[in-house]
Amino acid sequence: MEIAIRSTVHQTGATALTELLRFQPPDADHRTVPCACGHVAKYEGMRSRPVLTVVGWAQIDRPYYLCSECHCGQFPADVQLDIQKTDFSPGVRRMLAAVGSEAPFAQGRAQIKLLADLEVTTKAVERTAEFIGEDIEARQQQDIRRAKQLKLPIFIGPPIPYFYVQMDGTQVFVVKSETENRAGRSPGQPARTRECKLGAVFTQTGVDDQGRPVRDENSTTYVGAIETAEEFGLRIYTEACHRGWDRASIRVVMGDGSHWIWNIADQHFPGAIQIVDLYHAREHLWELARLLFPADPSAQKRWLKSKLNWLDNGKIERLVAALRKSANSTSNPELAKTIRIEAEYFEGNRNRMRYPEFRQKNLFVGSGVIEAGCKTVIGSRLKHSGMFWTVHGANAIIALRCCCMSGKFEPYWEERAS
Ligand SMILES: [Zn+2]
Repeated sequence: MEIAIRSTVHQTGATALTELLRFQPPDADHRTVPCACGHVAKYEGMRSRPVLTVVGWAQIDRPYYLCSECHCGQFPADVQLDIQKTDFSPGVRRMLAAVGSEAPFAQGRAQIKLLADLEVTTKAVERTAEFIGEDIEARQQQDIRRAKQLKLPIFIGPPIPYFYVQMDGTQVFVVKSETENRAGRSPGQPARTRECKLGAVFTQTGVDDQGRPVRDENSTTYVGAIETAEEFGLRIYTEACHRGWDRASIRVVMGDGSHWIWNIADQHFPGAIQIVDLYHAREHLWELARLLFPADPSAQKRWLKSKLNWLDNGKIERLVAALRKSANSTSNPELAKTIRIEAEYFEGNRNRMRYPEFRQKNLFVGSGVIEAGCKTVIGSRLKHSGMFWTVHGANAIIALRCCCMSGKFEPYWEERAS
């Protein structure tokens, strides 16, 4: 019965909307509008078409204008209502974008049918979600250009005691044409993936009663894209500016050991405290232990005990010396090489691993925010098995998801409507 009632309510609503969408023909004084070509477009008559709204199909009837110079037609009412060149109302597009950002498009189509009783095609969910993602990205690029020209406004707000920028990379499977002439991650293998760079910004106001740092709830915002480090650097810098980088007292950049992260930190966030996320650093040791003692968990643990201890206590020089020693003592040249690479990783990042110092300053030494972000923002939507993306399509959905998960989806629609 409730489903039948919903259907009736929808029909009544659609009839009411059709009435509201019946525009009057312009009076004699308003029969022309300016045309983009510089001439004027003349009123040609009323034109009607269907529009899918949140209560089903309605009809819009509005004036049509035609330019006799360039033969361009226009519907000012469509622009005003934000339904230019689309069959879907803003309310429906918001729903399609929301489900398209959350789940595979076919699943989104089924959700729209179940939850809103609207029939749309899978392609419509895909196109709409991508289109909204592209629009979000275009607005972000405008902002990034402003930041690049140092023309961003000053973002006013209360002072921020602790401000964190975290960055990481995660691989997304792409269609073959997106990896042409790119080397794979394993030597001799063709590339199957492209790296999505993800950044998270969050703040901390204080510490708990045990002196541990506490992240401000809901303070995390994300930006990301498959793009070069140079492009991404400007993107994360712009986001940090918006979030109040300028009024932060203690500024921290965190990441794993990837060179691009620290290049961005040096270029865009000079003077910030640089910290290698402790969890990432620990993972390096765990992986090495697995290589050294395959299928022998107790030997792995024995080997790890002192190494993890040194790492946690910032005694990186000791750790590096121990690693070099094991590299020299192994008879396997491949393994020795791997260990030396790891030794270099710790040596090169040693000043970013002074964890006791960082703890003393009440800072996070590993937050898991960006790791969780890679999983929730990117992995859970873009890394289903059998999913292959175009870079353009992936970037649209990444922009959309970052927007949704940063609490910016509703503000985006408000901005569109204004
Ligand atoms: Zn014209």
